Amino acid sequence: MKNLVILGAGTSGTMMANHLVSKLPKKEWTITIIDQFKTHYYQPGFLFLPFDIYTSKQVKKKGEKFIPKGVNYLQKKIELIQPETNTVQLEDGISLPYDVLIVATGTKTAPDEIEGMKGPEWYKSVFDFYTYEGAKALRNKLRDWEGGKLVVHITEMPIKCPVAPLEFAFLADSYFKNKGMRDKVEITYVTPLGGAFTKPKATKALHYLLEEKNIKEVTDFNIERVDYENNKIIDYGDSEVEYDLLVTVPTNMGDALIERSGMGDDLNFIPTNKGSLQTKAHENIFAIGDATDLPASKAGSVAHFEAEILTENILRYINGEELKEEFDGHANCFIETGNGKALLIDFNYTHEPVEGEFPFPGVGPLKLLKESRTNHMGKMAFRWIYWNMLIKGIHIPFVSATMSEKGKNFEEVQ
Ligand SMILES: Cc1cc2nc3c(=O)[nH]c(=O)nc-3n(C[C@H](O)[C@H](O)[C@H](O)COP(=O)(O)OP(=O)(O)OC[C@H]3O[C@@H](n4cnc5c(N)ncnc54)[C@H](O)[C@@H]3O)c2cc1C
Repeated sequence: MKNLVILGAGTSGTMMANHLVSKLPKKEWTITIIDQFKTHYYQPGFLFLPFDIYTSKQVKKKGEKFIPKGVNYLQKKIELIQPETNTVQLEDGISLPYDVLIVATGTKTAPDEIEGMKGPEWYKSVFDFYTYEGAKALRNKLRDWEGGKLVVHITEMPIKCPVAPLEFAFLADSYFKNKGMRDKVEITYVTPLGGAFTKPKATKALHYLLEEKNIKEVTDFNIERVDYENNKIIDYGDSEVEYDLLVTVPTNMGDALIERSGMGDDLNFIPTNKGSLQTKAHENIFAIGDATDLPASKAGSVAHFEAEILTENILRYINGEELKEEFDGHANCFIETGNGKALLIDFNYTHEPVEGEFPFPGVGPLKLLKESRTNHMGKMAFRWIYWNMLIKGIHIPFVSATMSEKGKNFEEVQ
């Protein structure tokens, strides 16, 4: 028997187990998936939890529900990858051999990277919403918060779902309006980028929305420390932003396992071929999702497209065929803008988000880079799609793994 081992049973790992179980001959291959946690979180729901739009129950389920029969599921911490012996070391001294390895260990927040962030004010006046614990603590805080300076902040790029902090600011605007206390809250959006987003056309559209909602924007802010005693964040150029409530997205990093195994870059992301998803250093190791260093968005939708292409490449690798360099960086993200509306963006490595219709040219029903209620319904439907289709590896109709140029008002990006 040969062994295919998947590290991480989050979005990407679970999808790969579901794709591969029906494609690898059972008499020849054993598939094993390993994760440290029993719970599978719907992370996009962490955006809605602080505003009491979703309940805790709606964003977490038992991971084992989604691992198909015929796949070994181990709940263990992974300590080390040893490519020289093709083995993985788990806690309790367990050693697992592999013929093919898929790394899907994602990215996590590292608030310790910034002085003062995870200090005595953590979860008192300084919060994150990128973890289940953070989103829940923030929900409890917001329920009784009486207003003041709310600062929504990104520490550094890349982060998973780079639009989520903007969505948080938009949702905060409508949350406080609905509570009849918007006049008591000053919202400031602080980013290390030169604008609201990484791509020029979307930045323009999003900047307009920030203005419309009276959300102040502070750009090019490279945080050095949180001065929790005086309620301000300070950047390397000594400029300061004051807060009463700081909602930050801490540095995102790959798991320490990748650093221990000597396989990552400065942020523990794995150098990966951007078309084939094979790691650059080892031909029998592949990487998917947030764990890679690809210049694509770190998003579940991206992982979903990658999984379709990676499945084919794993089969090609096993059969000794040349790998396809087909992944084009395709990302498809809804941006919740508050008051029951959302934008949709669809882009890849070479094409930035533009206006148009999706998925059917001239028809839609979803509008690209424009606010609409249908887009909002798409965003809310995503949770059902995630639990019932996406992580089960079921193809989502009309949405191809590579980006379609049809229905889009393009100008080629240089
Ligand atoms: C607030 C927020 C909003 C988001 N919104 C969207 C959205 O609207 N649309 C979208 O497409 N995406 C969104 N995302 C991003 C999306 O959730 C992630 O990109 C996606 O989950 C990545 O999947 P992954 O499998 O690469 O990583 P994960 O799903 O994070 O899985 C990694 C797994 O590896 C395990 N692991 C790591 N290290 C070890 C170890 N040493 N031992 C054992 N197990 C280990 C972890 O426990 C985890 O289960 C959002 C994310 C957040 C935080």
